Amino acid sequence: MEILPGLSDYKEIVGKKYIEQLYHLASFTKGKKVIMVNSTRTGGGVAEILHRLIPLINELGIECHWKIINGDNGFFKITKNIHNALQGNRICFSREELEYYLEINRKNSKDIDLDADIVVIHDPQPLPIINFYNSQNAKWVWRCHIDLSKPDLALWKHLRNYINQYDASIFSISKFSRKLPHRQFLILPSIDPLSDKNKDLSQEKISEVLESFNIKNDRPIILQVSRFDRFKDPAGVIEAYRLVKKEINCQLILAGGVASDDPEGLEVLEEVRTAAGSDPDIHILLLEPDSNIEINALQRAADVVIQKSLKEGFGLVVSEALWKEKPVVGGAVGGITTQIKNYHNGFLVYSIEGAAYRIRYLLNRPHMAKIMGRHAKMFAHENFLITRHLRDYLSLFIILYSGNKNIIHA
Ligand code: UDP
Repeated sequence: MEILPGLSDYKEIVGKKYIEQLYHLASFTKGKKVIMVNSTRTGGGVAEILHRLIPLINELGIECHWKIINGDNGFFKITKNIHNALQGNRICFSREELEYYLEINRKNSKDIDLDADIVVIHDPQPLPIINFYNSQNAKWVWRCHIDLSKPDLALWKHLRNYINQYDASIFSISKFSRKLPHRQFLILPSIDPLSDKNKDLSQEKISEVLESFNIKNDRPIILQVSRFDRFKDPAGVIEAYRLVKKEINCQLILAGGVASDDPEGLEVLEEVRTAAGSDPDIHILLLEPDSNIEINALQRAADVVIQKSLKEGFGLVVSEALWKEKPVVGGAVGGITTQIKNYHNGFLVYSIEGAAYRIRYLLNRPHMAKIMGRHAKMFAHENFLITRHLRDYLSLFIILYSGNKNIIHA
C-alpha cells in the first residue's frame, strides 16, 4: 500500500515558505469541520484528487472527511446521462428518472451524516442531497468538475433548482461558469507530484512495466490514458495513429480503466477493441484501479502523450504528462486549453488530422519535443500542483466566512 507523503515532504518541490503560508492560511479555519462528498472512491480525476487533498487538509489542522454516496446501476446510468447532457449531448430525461435521481439522494441523506461547517459536494451525482439537509447551519459549496461550456439547457434548468440552494459554486475555468444567485469560484484541479502516479521512477522500473504489458520500447510510443469514455475520443485517437503510422513506424497505447460510477465503460472498451482490429501495434490495456505506478511508467515511456478529448472538465492526465516532461497533443476543449500552450508545452488540436499532424511534428523533432517537455514540467510546477490547490481551498474557506468583505487581511 502506498504511504502518503506529509506536507513537509513538499518543501523540496515548492519551498519551505510555501508550506508555512499554507499553515498560516489554514489557521483562519482551525476548529471548523469540512466534509467532501462524491460518488466513487476509485476511477476518474475527482477520486484521484480527493485521495491526496483530504489527508493534507487534515494535516493542516482542519478536520476534513470524505463521504461517498451509494447508488445502484439504475442510478449511475441516469447520472452518467446527466454528466453527458451537461457536457452537451441532447438527452431527454423522463420524470421517473429525475425522481429516481432525487430519491437515491434522499436515501443517502438518511445514511450519511453531513453535520459540518463546510460541505463540498462534487459533481452532479450527489448534487440534490442538499434538498434533505438543513443547509442553514453550514456553508454548502457545489464543486463542478465537468465541461459545462454548452450544457443541455432543459437539464441545466432542472438542476439549477438544487444548485441555487448552495452558498457558492466552484468551476475549473471561467468558460464553465453560469448565471447563478451565489458566488462562483475558479479553482483548477491538481496533481500530486509525490504520489505513486507522479513520483520519479527508475529506468529499470519503466522497462519492467513495459515488459509486463508485452510492449517493446523499440519504436516511438504514442499514449492516451483515460477512462473508456466517448468524450475522450479513443476512436479518434486510433484514426490519428493510423494517419501517423503511414509515415512513421510507431505504436499506440490506449490505457484505461472503468469507474464504479460509470456504467458505460465496458461498452466503450468493446467499441475501442473493434476499432483497433488486429493491429499488433495498438496496445489496449484495461488497468486495475490502483495501477498508479503502471500509469506513471507508461507516461514516462511515451514519446508523445495525447488527450484527444471532445469535452473535458480539466483532464488531470494532461498535467500528469506535463509533469513528466512530455509535450501533450490535446483536444482544444475545456480545461485542456488551460494546460497546453501551442509550441510551448504541446499542441491544441481540433481534428483527427490535426492530431496526426502534431504527433508527427513531435516524433520527427525529438530535440524540439525535449525542449517543449522541459517547458511542460515548469508549467505544471507553476500551475497544477496540489500545494496550489490546497492554497485555493484554504482561501475559499476563509472567504466563505468573511461575509461581504471585499478585502481580507491574511
Ligand atoms: N486513471 C487511472 N486509471 C485509468 C484511467 C485513468 O488511474 O485506468 C487516472 C488518471 O491517471 C487521472 C484520472 O484517473 O489521474 C483521470 O482524470 P481526468 O481528469 O484526466 O479524467 P476523468 O476520468 O476525471 O474524466
